[in-house]
Amino acid sequence: MQFRNLPNVNSVLASESLEELAANFQRELLVDLVREELDSAREGIRRGGDAPTAEMVAEAVCRQLAGLTRQQPRRVINATGVILHTNLGRAPLSVAATKAMQEAAAGYTDLELDLTDGRRGSRQAHLQALIKRLTGAEAALAVNNNASAVLLGLSALASGKEVVVSRAEAVEIGGGFRIPDVCRQSGGELVDVGTTNRTYLRDYEQAVTENTAAFLKVHASNFRVEGFTAAVEPAELVELGERTGVAVLHDEGSGCLLPTERYGLAHEPTPQESIAAGVGLVFFSGDKLLGGPQAGIVAGKKDLVDLLARHPLARAVRIDKLSMAALTATLLHYLRGEAEVEIPIWRMISIPADEIKERATRWQAKLETPAQVEPSRSAIGGGSLPGETLASWVLALDCTGASGGPPGVMERLRRWEPPVVARVEEDRVLLDPRTVLPQEENDLLPAVTSALTH
Ligand SMILES: *Cc1c(COP(=O)(O)O)cnc(C)c1O
Repeated sequence: MQFRNLPNVNSVLASESLEELAANFQRELLVDLVREELDSAREGIRRGGDAPTAEMVAEAVCRQLAGLTRQQPRRVINATGVILHTNLGRAPLSVAATKAMQEAAAGYTDLELDLTDGRRGSRQAHLQALIKRLTGAEAALAVNNNASAVLLGLSALASGKEVVVSRAEAVEIGGGFRIPDVCRQSGGELVDVGTTNRTYLRDYEQAVTENTAAFLKVHASNFRVEGFTAAVEPAELVELGERTGVAVLHDEGSGCLLPTERYGLAHEPTPQESIAAGVGLVFFSGDKLLGGPQAGIVAGKKDLVDLLARHPLARAVRIDKLSMAALTATLLHYLRGEAEVEIPIWRMISIPADEIKERATRWQAKLETPAQVEPSRSAIGGGSLPGETLASWVLALDCTGASGGPPGVMERLRRWEPPVVARVEEDRVLLDPRTVLPQEENDLLPAVTSALTH
């Protein structure tokens, strides 16, 4: 009986809400969506439900369309205080990097054209020159991301051979990147040496056979082992590598070009140090502490970089022109000595705590709901400097009057346009000004007022 009450496709298409949309979408798409909604309505009737009206089906189609036509990724305000938030897309780009990316995207570029002689040029040449200058390396190569840089490196140098890794460094970075798996995928055989907490130079030395291609050092980016530990420094491995004819590779993860200790943080190994120590290749990310776009950078000895550049995988993991544009602009900030001012994540890391307190106090004065300005800590995040935090200030929102308590407030913040992501501690929602860009403040405060008063 209810099946007979089900509207037909044409009557749904003729309903008021879909009539309006018909001009903006292809008819085939609308028909498909209507059919899918009618199918699920039939399913509902089979389970004992009533037939929907044509208008109800049309509204369901409109909701589907709204979801389908949404832009993704969407801009989000990060009030968590976690500077490199993996779920929020890691590093925001500088103004110059954004502009470079937009210009490269909207028109033609000299990507592979040498403008001085009109002949074919190399897309990598300028980027490579910058990386060499900043790291002190003989040669460099930029690829899609650091995971592909390491995969390319091992594939080009260690396929069918052995790669010696400390047991403490056969790690998982997240998102499925596990050193033993990457090694296997590259055709190399991982030989793990030492123990989970202590590895000595002699462990590497004893593992060397005539089939050993590389010593791979991996930075423990997202965890820390404390206490009775020992690890071998790159410089010691270089010496052993020279004696035994084995290449030393260093997956640094973050690729931090600035000295983190200047900001009260633990020392993060830098590519410059690894290169100065004489490692064969160093691998690092573009969008962690470098503060640029997703990219993977390889720097090191020319003969090794050349082997990577010539490997068939190099084409498969090639960096795209938009990332190149943004990466170049980001590296130029370092070259000009303006990284701390121009690169958002470095501005966030270096901003004085007093300034953060001032911003939190200003927000407090503008809000009409109870909130306290309190000392707190911001995290670096993004698989960089694990456990390292910076002294900060937060605005702690009193959620007692708000429906659903802190989870309700958090949900309403996420549903705001633009969405706001904050953090909850001890039954209160905390907003850390450190990661909120200045131009986002005008959007943030109405979101907070609305989330608290509903
Ligand atoms: C983050 C990280 C990677 C992966 O880098 P992506 O740029 O995310 O691909 C690899 N190795 C280490 C040690 C890392 O920290």
